[in-house]
Amino acid sequence: MQKHLPKFLTMVEILTAIAPVKQRKVKGKVLIDSKRCKACEICIAECKEQALSLGENINQRGYRFIVANNDLCTGCVNCALVCPDAVITVYRTNVKKKKESTT
Ligand code: SF4
Ligand code: SF4
Repeated sequence: MQKHLPKFLTMVEILTAIAPVKQRKVKGKVLIDSKRCKACEICIAECKEQALSLGENINQRGYRFIVANNDLCTGCVNCALVCPDAVITVYRTNVKKKKESTT
């Protein structure tokens, strides 16, 4: 029979456990005009947070369209700037002040 030995934590595990969680000052929310998206995927390549992906559904133009995971979005606006058809709107919320602005 195997005895349960106490687990000794590594220094990294200890520091990770006691370190305060870094809170973002700004949170993003992306809205995509799915009817106009043409699945070029330029926005996916531009998103450093990997918040965008190609969805499974198909729009009226016959393209799969982009879907956003807004939990990962920082509101950097890069996706909206590179979209050739300007179908992305980014809302930014200051987490502390709870103010929302659009770009
Ligand atoms: S605003 Fe920035 S973080 Fe949010 S989906 Fe667009 S590129 Fe990604
Ligand atoms: S860049 Fe614009 S058109 Fe291209 S996939 Fe992204 S949202 Fe759709």
